[in-house]
Amino acid sequence: MAGSGMDITSTTRLLAVIGHPIAHSLSPRIHNSAFRAQSLDFVYVAFDVQPSALVTAVEGLRSLGFRGANVTVPHKQHVLKLMDELDPLAARVGAVNTVVNEEGRLLGHNTDVAGFSAALRGVLPQGAAGKRCLVAGAGGAARAVVAALAAEGANTVWVFNRTSARAEELCVAARQWGAALCEPVRTESLLEVGKQADIVINATSVGLDPTVKATPVPVDIFSSRQVVVDLVYGRAATEFVSQARARGAETIDGLDMLLMQAASSYTLWTGVQAPLDIMRSALVGTVN
Ligand code: NAP
Repeated sequence: MAGSGMDITSTTRLLAVIGHPIAHSLSPRIHNSAFRAQSLDFVYVAFDVQPSALVTAVEGLRSLGFRGANVTVPHKQHVLKLMDELDPLAARVGAVNTVVNEEGRLLGHNTDVAGFSAALRGVLPQGAAGKRCLVAGAGGAARAVVAALAAEGANTVWVFNRTSARAEELCVAARQWGAALCEPVRTESLLEVGKQADIVINATSVGLDPTVKATPVPVDIFSSRQVVVDLVYGRAATEFVSQARARGAETIDGLDMLLMQAASSYTLWTGVQAPLDIMRSALVGTVN
């Protein structure tokens, strides 16, 4: 890795992120800066893996002796069945974002759940306990968020999704995970329900190109008594975060969760506490 300052040898342990597309990924920068800071003999690279190549890519990680990997869009759900063992949380969410290779056995974890909770606690030390929460989205990220909210003892979880059947399915799962109350929300009641929420979370892809000026819920929902969390991140604040800030809400952007899930994965691979300040600086240096 030219210019990285790392001395890569035949004993250096290997990590990767696999996804498609992958060129935008900030994960190599976050992890390699931390390995350098802690003098750990690891290196982290990115592989663009098409869906049709997922099985051979995962077998490659095993046969080449990679210590592990991150798995991102669109593979988080498909990779689940390729694992030898699943962490109970990953099994519950139905998605794996972190693979740990224990002497040829691939263990699947989901650190998005812990990443979301840790990012939320940066603003709300008690987390979501007793709070009414509106989640936009019903994909893999939304499942991790709802699992975290259920585990934290949220009072109510409302789920709004473009495809309403998926919101209904997620609420059925959330009740099995122990959510006190989880209800799908229809478009016609979204404004009224959203105004009651203490925490509003965007777990859709809205905010990414080509929807950078869109929000997944009406912005009139936002108020100064809310915490508003966006999982989407980019060079500038998303429209979701900007509109919430303009109405006085406290906001958390997608970079916070990205950082916290990365820190959890780092510890799973290395057994060492992640240097959050170093990782955050690497991230800010990239994004600004
Ligand atoms: P996913 O499984 O593909 O789900 C996408 C979700 O977005 C679905 O609910 C989908 O609704 C909705 N959606 C997509 N386009 C939409 C549109 N134009 N209008 C309304 N809804 C739309 O993806 P995912 O893995 O859950 O990821 C979702 C987002 O979270 C991505 O942007 C990802 O980068 C981000 N994320 C961030 C972190 C982090 O650390 N910050 C971690 C995980 C994920 P339908 O069901 O109707 O298709």
